[in-house]
Amino acid sequence: AYQARESLYVLSQFAATFFKEQLWDSDEGRSVGLSYFRERGFREDVIRKFELGYSPDVWDALTQQALNNGYAHQYLEATGLSIRNDKGRVYDRFRGRVMFPIHNFTGRVIGFGGRTLKTEKSVPKYVNSPESDIYHKSNVLYGLFQAKKAIRDANNCYLVEGYADVLSVHQAGVENVVASSGTSLTTEQIRLISRFTENVTILYDGDPAGIKASLRGLDMILEEGMNVKVVSFPDRHDPDSYMHAVGAAAFRTYIEENRKDFIFYKADILLAEAGNDPIKRAGIIRDIVESISKIPDSIKASVFVRECSRLLEVEERILLTELNKMRAARL
Ligand code: ATP
Ligand code: MN
Ligand code: MN
Ligand code: MN
Repeated sequence: AYQARESLYVLSQFAATFFKEQLWDSDEGRSVGLSYFRERGFREDVIRKFELGYSPDVWDALTQQALNNGYAHQYLEATGLSIRNDKGRVYDRFRGRVMFPIHNFTGRVIGFGGRTLKTEKSVPKYVNSPESDIYHKSNVLYGLFQAKKAIRDANNCYLVEGYADVLSVHQAGVENVVASSGTSLTTEQIRLISRFTENVTILYDGDPAGIKASLRGLDMILEEGMNVKVVSFPDRHDPDSYMHAVGAAAFRTYIEENRKDFIFYKADILLAEAGNDPIKRAGIIRDIVESISKIPDSIKASVFVRECSRLLEVEERILLTELNKMRAARL
């Protein structure tokens, strides 16, 4: 079993090198892939640092190259790099896409995300490697290998939604950034971050899906006993588009000045929805206390109860009663 896994690692590295060579050294890769990255404003040093690549727009470029180099069909299919159809024909999973290799936190390539360059709605924007013996997407954070030192140094981890967000935030000089690409945030991913810091700042997309994911994510992070802040972006922007719209310096200032403690973030969102309706406001109070009740450390929780009491002008005593009820209900 060890040998089989090792073969998957070696093949994945081979594929990453192949995609990288295609991007930099082939006519198609340069004129299609590299131009695409440049048009999006990605700098060459960032493209190289993240080992981005390009998969040629033909049926089996990688499959053939790997077979010619002695790699077995078995491993090509086990990594999902090749797919065998009903008729037994084997072809590449990634074709005509810009490629984002996914590393584990020790730096080995374990999978890929590939973005289409087409704009048709019928084509999936991203294709990701399937689960394999070396790639379990719920245990992986995109960019962690490149970010881990900066996360430790800053004692904070920025969490974004997508590959492009990681690249752009990194390019803006904020290198402590990772994404839960291809899956909604998992407890395993939060525990992975907790090896490096106990502070997380969520930078999700400004759309309704991003807001919903932020609210879900912050509860999960609190449950792991970590501290969480949130920066929201104008609707229709994500960290990547915002960084390119305002520039690196303004982006850094924005995330410094707009980070909110989870309690203020949640209150702002919910109060905006509720207006002056007293019944809705009561619901909000309960909703925020619900989040506070996820915090395992009761001293920390009591600090947030005080914060919440001040913010929503509700007596602390009432909030504590509510908090204890929620805790008891969960036991
Ligand atoms: P881009 O900026 O390149 O258009 P994005 O990262 O802003 O992409 P979103 O639509 O915001 O794209 O999606 C966030 C992340 O979710 C993506 O980076 C990718 O990891 C994942 N994702 C998006 N679409 C798909 C898909 N069709 N299949 C699998 N994963 C996807
Ligand atoms: Mn989105
Ligand atoms: Mn996005
Ligand atoms: Mn985007």
